[in-house]
Amino acid sequence: MAKHTAGIHHITAFVRSAQATADFYAGVLGLRLVKKTINFDAPEVYHLYFGDEIGSPGTIITFFPWAHSRKGKIGGGQVGVTTYAVPEGALPFWAERLERLGVSFHRTERFGEQYLQLEDRDGLQLELVERMAGSLSNWSFGGIPADKAIKGFGGAVLYSTSPRETMRVLEQVMGLEKTAEEGDIIRFKATGDLGNLIDIKTSLQSYSAGGAGTVHHIAWRAQDDTDHEAWRQHVQASGLQPTPIVDRQYFNAIYFREPGGILFEIATDPPGFARDEEKDELGSRLMLPEWYEPRRAEIERNLEPFVVRELEEDKK
Ligand code: ZN
Repeated sequence: MAKHTAGIHHITAFVRSAQATADFYAGVLGLRLVKKTINFDAPEVYHLYFGDEIGSPGTIITFFPWAHSRKGKIGGGQVGVTTYAVPEGALPFWAERLERLGVSFHRTERFGEQYLQLEDRDGLQLELVERMAGSLSNWSFGGIPADKAIKGFGGAVLYSTSPRETMRVLEQVMGLEKTAEEGDIIRFKATGDLGNLIDIKTSLQSYSAGGAGTVHHIAWRAQDDTDHEAWRQHVQASGLQPTPIVDRQYFNAIYFREPGGILFEIATDPPGFARDEEKDELGSRLMLPEWYEPRRAEIERNLEPFVVRELEEDKK
């Protein structure tokens, strides 16, 4: 049976510094740190989640900050650009803000939409675009009023080593619909109202290397555990090789590499980030899964302390 994802659940990237990442994603972009935990597969590394006020699926970018990380190279087999949606009419506010904060950006256009393209402190490629779809954020931080705040992902631009194969997976496995083509970009649409427009570059991409400033994987949404199990069977029946279901505390996950080299995950919407912290305390302390609690003191000693703070420029 055909299945259709609602769109992006989260995007996960490598960076070097937890503090620089908090200063950029909370300080500059105004997102909320909704969870401070560790990489469950490498407990000496943080896993930081930034999103809207509750970390709704479709708004979450996550990071593994590792000071010794080599610099990665963006290229084929990765998410090339992560797209954020801002409310209609908010782009001039963002252009003015980025200018004032000394964050360089350039303007570009595709499919009739204006984009501001910028990089984070590690060179991860981001862009802002106005979108009507998606509800307004309820989170206001650092002088960004909620009616200008990032709503969540608009989508992403995929750089594939085999665009034709990746497009086949987007359509036939993930259930996206091809909607437009312009130059070397083909646009696909998922059923949700955030994280739903996926562009893929069809031109030849340079080689890539994982490391700071690159995306590790893109996760797609499953409704619940029952739907997730059905997704796993569906992916397997499509000839791809999903991992067993992994418990990530805030969602369940499966992973598989699509033939164009991009690591895909499918993650459940529930239970979400309020499962172990009150909504108004999200992200305020280091949360560990119970199997790591006995090692809390040792784990905390190994992590670089950081704070979520307003930028000095926003206090003036
Ligand atoms: Zn993930």
